[in-house]
Amino acid sequence: MIASEPMSGAEIMALDDQYVMHTYARLPAVFVRGEGCFVYDTEGKEYLDLVAGIAVNGLGHCPPKVVEAICEQAKKLMHTSNLYYTLPQPRLAKLLVEISGMSKAFFCNSGAEANEAAIKLARKAAKVNHSAEKIEIVTAEQSFHGRTIGAITATGQLKYQKNFTPLVPGFKHVPYNDIGELRAAVSGRTCAVLLEPVQGESGVHPAKADFLRAARELCDKYAAALIFDEVQTGLGRTGKMFGFQHFDVVPDIITLAKTLGGGFPIGCCLARNEWADVFEPGDHAATFGGNPLACAAAIAAVTEIRDGGWVKNAEEVGNYFRERLSDLPGIKEVRGLGLMIAAEFAEPKAKTVAAKALENGLIVNAIGENVLRFVPPLILTKELVDRAIDILIKC
Ligand code: PLP
Repeated sequence: MIASEPMSGAEIMALDDQYVMHTYARLPAVFVRGEGCFVYDTEGKEYLDLVAGIAVNGLGHCPPKVVEAICEQAKKLMHTSNLYYTLPQPRLAKLLVEISGMSKAFFCNSGAEANEAAIKLARKAAKVNHSAEKIEIVTAEQSFHGRTIGAITATGQLKYQKNFTPLVPGFKHVPYNDIGELRAAVSGRTCAVLLEPVQGESGVHPAKADFLRAARELCDKYAAALIFDEVQTGLGRTGKMFGFQHFDVVPDIITLAKTLGGGFPIGCCLARNEWADVFEPGDHAATFGGNPLACAAAIAAVTEIRDGGWVKNAEEVGNYFRERLSDLPGIKEVRGLGLMIAAEFAEPKAKTVAAKALENGLIVNAIGENVLRFVPPLILTKELVDRAIDILIKC
């Protein structure tokens, strides 16, 4: 076979099956092209994509401004070591600092890595400024923070941890939105409380404002870092630039990835100076972190999200989408903020509906047996919501 020879969908699936580790239960679709809210398979069939790379393609597929920025930067300089200065990295850092209210950024390549950076930062700050015993990190049950050993330890779901013990010592999990349990868990030994403003992976559960406020108070009382994992909620997804802006609670550290690069891999840990300045040369690094290509893509993506009206669009189209989903037959509950939405069925039929939807040219994500998750591009329109609802009714 010649590398450039076109292959059928079946051939590509067989190739993947043989040579790629089976860490994903892939669905039977092979995508070769994307544009806006749509992707296309090997046969040219069109799919309306309401998963968007799991909240990555915030501006849709191949957004022109991001594509242009990548092409321009790729011709100039793709990568140098972080031992030297380049322009796109501080430019992106300034942009993110301006929109978040944080002070400084550390760049990496994924959400899990961003959380690792945040955990290390909080641990070092506690050790340097307080005591060697101040090492505990409190996170929530049913949370999701990524797949590295540190991140699965933070993740409050046994299914992601069970075959990979021993985990990292010093983590405690409390039921999400349970203020009493949170109070009982946080103490002078706590160096950080790590929370998602809306739990995404486990089925789109927004935080209660009182819970996040209690976390803020406890962190202030015990001089611990309040870390918000905004890997999924960040950059317009919830109808505000950041998830925390719904709750009037400001964190000390924010982690980002997913939408940040407009489809290009990049992660980021943002922190206020009190925390950020604890990191010294040699404390933390990522070879690829914040390279000029990734940063150029992210500058273009974040600027377009900020200036293109897409945050407002996520709020408006999200409200409309939730309304329309509530009218679907068999729906028990619709949850979410902006374009981070879950529809829970009364019956265990989410997987069947998602599979039928795929056959009918609609990409939605089943979580467990009862929940459909929607994290579409922020550029989604009401007309496309209507099209999706028509397909879902058929399914
Ligand atoms: N944190 C949250 C809230 C996420 O939703 C995810 C991924 O779904 C991660 C962290 C991990 O991100 P990544 O897969 O880029 O490591």
